[in-house]
Amino acid sequence: MAQERVPRRRTVVVIGGGMAGLVGARTLLQRGFHVTLLERSGRFGGTVDGRVLGGLQLDSGAESFSTRSATVPSLAEELGLGDRIVAPDATGAWVQLPGKDLAASAQPLPSSGVLGIPADPSDPSVTAVIGRAGALRAALDRVLPVGPLATRTRVSLGELVRTRMGDEVLTRLVAPVAGGVFSADPDDLDVDSVAPGLRATMGRLGSLGAAAGALRQAAPAGAAVGGLAGGIAQLRDALVAELVAAGADLRTGEQVTAITRSGAAWTVTTEHSILARRIPADGVLVATEGRAAVDLLGPAIPAVAGERPDPVPGVALVTLIVDVPELDARPRGTGVLVARGVEGVAAKALTHATAKWAWLRDQAGPGSHVLRLSYGRVGDTPADVGLATPDDALYRHALADASSLLGVPMQEADVLDWDVVRWAGALPHASVGHRERLARIRALVADQSESLAVTGGWLAGTGLVAVIDDARARAGVLADALDEAAPDAPM
Ligand SMILES: Cc1cc2nc3c(=O)[nH]c(=O)nc-3n(C[C@H](O)[C@H](O)[C@H](O)COP(=O)(O)OP(=O)(O)OC[C@H]3O[C@@H](n4cnc5c(N)ncnc54)[C@H](O)[C@@H]3O)c2cc1C
Repeated sequence: MAQERVPRRRTVVVIGGGMAGLVGARTLLQRGFHVTLLERSGRFGGTVDGRVLGGLQLDSGAESFSTRSATVPSLAEELGLGDRIVAPDATGAWVQLPGKDLAASAQPLPSSGVLGIPADPSDPSVTAVIGRAGALRAALDRVLPVGPLATRTRVSLGELVRTRMGDEVLTRLVAPVAGGVFSADPDDLDVDSVAPGLRATMGRLGSLGAAAGALRQAAPAGAAVGGLAGGIAQLRDALVAELVAAGADLRTGEQVTAITRSGAAWTVTTEHSILARRIPADGVLVATEGRAAVDLLGPAIPAVAGERPDPVPGVALVTLIVDVPELDARPRGTGVLVARGVEGVAAKALTHATAKWAWLRDQAGPGSHVLRLSYGRVGDTPADVGLATPDDALYRHALADASSLLGVPMQEADVLDWDVVRWAGALPHASVGHRERLARIRALVADQSESLAVTGGWLAGTGLVAVIDDARARAGVLADALDEAAPDAPM
């Protein structure tokens, strides 16, 4: 008797085990597909990771999420982490401006706008940073006609702010914030990607300040960011645990070297130690960093090769755990963003983590503090302190910089523990023209095949919200296409 052939369950291979790959895999599993996820490194999470230092559980990469949408809180709820969602300390961050007397040149960062763009340049918290002349120039924003800036293609954040509000707002407020969030210069950032809707709102309301205020008001009340008690890396851990429990095949140490198509079927080739493995798939979701993605897609879609992103900057993070009771007073709130040109300080930002997060403060106990300093600015030369600086030298810079920025002298004897975490090429940013490039890449991939999709921070934009939203959306479209192609296939 002829044996009936049992059709195999449809498989999607997800390439890259960062947040984009993990979230995409989750969506595909929920849609009934068998999922194999291949991660090149020895661990999942990509730029979301944690480690224990000085007995404290600390995030190594992302340590907060934007609360402008419910994306991360609702994912945390779904993963059983809802009760760990916390808001940072309300004191907010400071900005360190150039000046002979560093303490006198540090100011609380005004909190009324977006990306450092003030809603009201005449507010005393803003004039304290930009000065009276800066405030007068910025006030022109209220009267200057909006003109083509609201509608023209390709406008950088820098051009928009400089034209509307002047150099003081740009260099003393917006540049430190953009540097801290994107490791990029405002002149290199596509305003529509980093502040979607800002230009359109400006066109409608007639000024940049009004638009910044409106966008801020439209965000949920409360702090602009949130965190998880115990660290953001728990999101990664919970995702991995859920995927494994649901039957996904998750593999670390497997670098994908090629994806090839034959008819409707895909073959994903990986390098696992010295062995090459070939994995058949009905669909593929590429969720690696940009350059790796383009290298994988290039042979199948030559036009994509021309869209290979430029190398992106990296960042070195020095974490100091210090026993300095004077820091209990949180002298610079939750931390300091450093404007360019501050003499004697190489760090571009300092997060006072035990001031920012009450859960960490409770764990560390009175007098003990966690300080995280970041190094590496766009345009740095090899002589600048940054990613290439050896650990010991970075540590000494960090101790000196922390003392200067917090206005509290600290010695090596005060340091309980320290380490350096390096993220090379991990901060893609939305450069000017990003949206057009992105649309071209998406169209090229879609033209090639509906059973191929691409996601990740390099396309979606930096930040967990953008990455998670995009991964869900792309995996959903891929699942729809596969369902349509074979509606009766077993799930
Ligand atoms: C220091 C730092 C701090 C940050 N802080 C915040 C923050 O506080 N809040 C926030 O919202 N965002 C933050 N971000 C940004 C956020 O972490 C990222 O936007 C997001 O995690 C990117 O996820 P991803 O999956 O797209 O990319 P990645 O995390 O880069 O993951 C890509 C994965 O693909 C794997 N891979 C690459 N090539 C291959 C291959 N050929 N085969 C198999 N696997 C491959 C890589 O090993 C990696 O694991 C921070 C980023 C950094 C670097």
